[in-house]
Amino acid sequence: MTLLLKSFLSSMLCFFILSTSRFADNQRFNGGAKPIATCDSLNPYVVIDRLFKDIRDKKIVGDTAKHLVMNQLKRIDSCYLLQNPVKYSKKDWKFPVKGYTYKEIGGRNGNGYIPNKFDFYDTLKRKSHPAQDIFVFDKNQDNIDDRTGKRADIVSMSGGVVICVENSWEPTSLLRGGKYVWVYDVDSRGFFYYAHNDTVCVQPGDVLVPGQKLAELGRTGLNAYKKRSPTHLHIMYLKLQSNGDLAPVNLYSDLVKAKH
Ligand SMILES: [Zn+2]
Repeated sequence: MTLLLKSFLSSMLCFFILSTSRFADNQRFNGGAKPIATCDSLNPYVVIDRLFKDIRDKKIVGDTAKHLVMNQLKRIDSCYLLQNPVKYSKKDWKFPVKGYTYKEIGGRNGNGYIPNKFDFYDTLKRKSHPAQDIFVFDKNQDNIDDRTGKRADIVSMSGGVVICVENSWEPTSLLRGGKYVWVYDVDSRGFFYYAHNDTVCVQPGDVLVPGQKLAELGRTGLNAYKKRSPTHLHIMYLKLQSNGDLAPVNLYSDLVKAKH
């Protein structure tokens, strides 16, 4: 009974926080006009999923994009704390490709990481690779791991919450990441990006524990689909800065230390 009451009160408080902050935002952006209140518009996970896609598609750029992301993160921080008080540190992080180790990371000692003026809020500037690629055994490029006869599982390195998912991709698509997942790790104040999946099995708002399955690896994405590209996971981590910037961090040493 006490648990039920606690859960109910948490839900109501979460709803209150989301509702009031949404109202304040709508007032700011609509010049005080009455906010449009639908379930979806109140859900910060639905809003940030759309925002990340609009930034990807260059519909929103620069400071406008940054401001909108910051606003949603405030809501998500409040809601997440009420949903999941368990904290995870880097010591809990798991290797993101099940059955594989850091030895399958491309390049030498993590030198595949090239941040080169990466700007999350301005995709036109992207001529960089602020990420690591982890290759699987798939000689005939059929998405099936040659050692297990199954697709490789992609799991979350960290805890946190899923904030954006792209689950539709066709070979004619120009999307570089193909089918991907963004996870906001609230504890480390950073964002994980897992790209080139065959199937994504989570959705925005899903709260995660380290090692939880996110997807099965594939070859989706403009370049990942091409024959010259061996089957791999592209994993990137962006650290949230106090001014709202998302700065890439080399995950190599964390991948070396990650649990299995
Ligand atoms: Zn890559």
